[in-house]
Amino acid sequence: MQGQPVFIMQQGTTQEQGKTAQSNNIAAAKAVAQAVRTTLGPMGMDKMLVDESGDVIITNDGATILEEIDISHPTAKMIIQIAKTQEQECYDGTTSAVIVAGEVLKKCEALIDQNIHPTTICRGLRKGLVYLIKKLEDYEIHDIDLDKIAKTALTGKSADSFKDVIADICVGAVMNTENLEDIRITKALGGSAADSEIIVVFIIDKERSHPAMPTSLRKPLVALIDSTLGVKQTEIDANIQITDPTQIEAFLAKEEAELQAMAESFHKNKANVVLCQREIDDLVKYHFAKLGILALEKVTKTDMEAVAMASGATIINNVKDLTGTALGSFDHTEQISLGDLPILKLTGGKNEATTVLLRGPTTHFVEEIERAFDDAAGVVSVAQRDSVILAGGGSTYAGLSGSLANHASQEAGRQGMAMVALADALESIPRTLAENAGLDPVDEMMALHKAHSDGKKYHGINIEVGGAIDMRSLGVFEPKRVVEQALKSAVETAIMVLRIDDIISSKQKNQG
Ligand code: ADP
Ligand code: MG
Repeated sequence: MQGQPVFIMQQGTTQEQGKTAQSNNIAAAKAVAQAVRTTLGPMGMDKMLVDESGDVIITNDGATILEEIDISHPTAKMIIQIAKTQEQECYDGTTSAVIVAGEVLKKCEALIDQNIHPTTICRGLRKGLVYLIKKLEDYEIHDIDLDKIAKTALTGKSADSFKDVIADICVGAVMNTENLEDIRITKALGGSAADSEIIVVFIIDKERSHPAMPTSLRKPLVALIDSTLGVKQTEIDANIQITDPTQIEAFLAKEEAELQAMAESFHKNKANVVLCQREIDDLVKYHFAKLGILALEKVTKTDMEAVAMASGATIINNVKDLTGTALGSFDHTEQISLGDLPILKLTGGKNEATTVLLRGPTTHFVEEIERAFDDAAGVVSVAQRDSVILAGGGSTYAGLSGSLANHASQEAGRQGMAMVALADALESIPRTLAENAGLDPVDEMMALHKAHSDGKKYHGINIEVGGAIDMRSLGVFEPKRVVEQALKSAVETAIMVLRIDDIISSKQKNQG
């Protein structure tokens, strides 16, 4: 019997099924991994990203690269999601996670070609992951050196040559603050990254409001006010009837006296730094200057709050509320300028609030330093919180790979083959580290296997001269969470991709 064909999809919808769908998906995942591969590790290269408007970003950061490139393939987007999750959960390890995911899929493709069913492969991968997570405990290190964690995260970034300074700042900033979000970052052009520093509070981009005001003060007492310092603004426009010229004079004199009294009330209460969220009247500024008070106007609310936090001052709304107890204190304040950026520097507040000033000669450089700083501060805080780390340089991946391959040989059947595929995929990390360092990956992997079969479980790639070396002796460490999360998301995503055997795409709206 001949029937009419039944259309269940709109015209223009395309469909890929079975192996075509799988191999296209795997190709997309491999392409994403390929895009970031060369950036892995201390010897990794940078990428220059240019967007439609011609803006340029130069970066070595996997997450940033993947965020910026415009990708439309749905599977590629899933891989990019790994990088985002990795970044959110552990601040680092994005490139590694993407590389492992791509590699797992690549190895599994060979199994699909051998007609092993994707469901069987996925079961094997899942078993493998459970084993890896358990096995990871064998590599735990509990003797934690935050400085080395920071330095490992900074290695290979633009910040590398300044990693002593930046790592110091990083650890200091994390120790000073409860939440990473409380670390304020100020970027200034000029100088070198080595001039970066950590200071209690900064007011950025603000010049003192009168040139005769002092530029530096010892033990300043700070008043914070969030309303205008000027003649009271009446709510309603008032008309003042003046009938003879002496009245004008008297009126102005009264106004001037009021403003002078306003300035003096700060002086009486011993405040010598005044930060005002609104404007300050010229006459008040003049009197402030005469009284030796350093005042800033139009300070942002965030800065006001940060100063309040650091100095113990209360933000007042009315000069009448000014008392000694509303004031906050610092050890020192100084008006400085960095390049053409005027900055009021306040140091030694009674509560620690942390501003990090990152410096460098160009905007691109400072921004890349900031990304490196963010990563490093992130891993330092993760390491501090979790208090468990691992040796880096591909050592853990190499060790896990060996044990999983061994373990898989006891697993009968095809699931075992998937576990071997996963084990092989883990080697992509040390191998890529070696490749990117210009070393011969075959020689390096042989040396690494030898070391691990001799029980040297902390041996990784010596990227400087080649050969396997105990990464502890080089001080290369990373939080356990970074590796654990990378393994989880790589395997989970690979499973998700492998389970797809049908891609149905609706017609693109704006297809030319
Ligand atoms: P990711 O985005 O995955 O963090 P990175 O480019 O930051 O990628 O590289 C991280 C890898 O580089 C980690 O495996 C880490 O152990 C390794 N690594 C860092 N410093 C060294 C070093 N001095 N020697 C060898 N490997 C290192
Ligand atoms: Mg990193």
